[in-house]
Amino acid sequence: MATRMTVTRFAPSPTGRLHVGNIRTALHNWMYAKGNGGRFLLRIDDTDAERSEEHFVDAIRADLAWLGMEPDGEVRQSARFALYESRFAALVAAGRIYPAYETAQELDLKRKVLLGRGLPPVYDRAALRLSEAERAALEAQGIRPHWRFKLDHDAPIRWDDAVRGPQSFDPATMSDPVIRRADGSWLYMLPSAIDDIDMGVTQVVRGEDHVSNTALQLQMFDAMGATPPGFAHAALLTGAEGKLSKRLGSLGVDHFREVGLEAQSVRALLARIGTSDPVEPVADMAPLIATFDFARFGRAPARFDEAELAQLNARIVHQLPFEAVADRLPAGMGAAEWDAVRPNLSTVGEAADWWGVIEGPVDAEIAGEDRAYLAEAAAAAAAIDWTGDPWHALTDRLKGTSGRKGKALFLPLRLALTGRAHGPDMGQLLPLIGQARAVARLGAAAG
Ligand code: GLU
Repeated sequence: MATRMTVTRFAPSPTGRLHVGNIRTALHNWMYAKGNGGRFLLRIDDTDAERSEEHFVDAIRADLAWLGMEPDGEVRQSARFALYESRFAALVAAGRIYPAYETAQELDLKRKVLLGRGLPPVYDRAALRLSEAERAALEAQGIRPHWRFKLDHDAPIRWDDAVRGPQSFDPATMSDPVIRRADGSWLYMLPSAIDDIDMGVTQVVRGEDHVSNTALQLQMFDAMGATPPGFAHAALLTGAEGKLSKRLGSLGVDHFREVGLEAQSVRALLARIGTSDPVEPVADMAPLIATFDFARFGRAPARFDEAELAQLNARIVHQLPFEAVADRLPAGMGAAEWDAVRPNLSTVGEAADWWGVIEGPVDAEIAGEDRAYLAEAAAAAAAIDWTGDPWHALTDRLKGTSGRKGKALFLPLRLALTGRAHGPDMGQLLPLIGQARAVARLGAAAG
């Protein structure tokens, strides 16, 4: 039997920027598609003309590009109304969609009455019991209906969720979902199912806030005669403190870029949190894609911790080869300089600081008692052979002449040469500073 090519889709509504929660959903879809030799599609859910904004569509594309998750295709719901219309007409003709005329206030009252009696607030299908004449009378008053999808109550709705395992819903406990408003506009539910069929989506990957929607949409797939895709509902994301935090809703690509993070760090963290696999500083997605498996996802919320992301970023930066960062380094900075400073970086951007240290000028605060020692060091730096390992040549010589050792030997040199008490290995840094600048800096520090 020929197996269908894997197709996933990421379906954001362009009503805001992507935040870390939906970036994670996009990543899951992207990884699953890549891991199965499939296609990752972007679907812009813009049926809500009022809330959708074009600049958010552009931002979503740009964010995915920065994240290195460019889609293999894109569709927009706003360009597909004709398709929705024809599927809608067929479902109305088949009796699976029906008009309802209650106002929001009436529905609210019905809900309150049921809740007051301790009953679940399920829609009572009063609209289905209207006679032809009653409907005509309502329409004659200018009341236009909204539309509900009629659930089949005969059997439980079941599916085997790739993350959550076997799921079962009793449709009799669910209201027939409103799928279209009185003004003709679409709610999310039916267009999404139509598109998933039409786009050949084989695996729907989304957050667990959609689990009950899936129960409803499974009946829609069935009503349209389609084989439903597989479903994977990942547990939601929480902040480091374990709560749903407001901050998560505003953390997105802009912020990651601003603080100088690598897209790979964001991917490496989001690929693993909420799974039984550890977060690892992998500089390349291949091993993460190879081990990606919904069966390894936990049911507990995944914790997103910015501090963990920053640490992971540093560990990934420490592995990046010069070629991967060359276009983001200051002009003139080469592979030797990158290799020397890389272990000290939290972000690639910080390389510019060390380039400044190498190039100078540096400003060092030197204690009075170290000045004579540094004058001695300046003379030694002028005298030693710089072709091999000048740092060892310099410190070996000074050990003998000054009688200093340990911190007293090294720290004043580091301060005078770099203006800082900490930093990259001096053995690597000193040749890059070079003899002329080193002699001058030591001399200046000697006062
Ligand atoms: N636009 C919907 C959302 O952002 C898509 C949900 C889905 O993946 O089906 O929640």
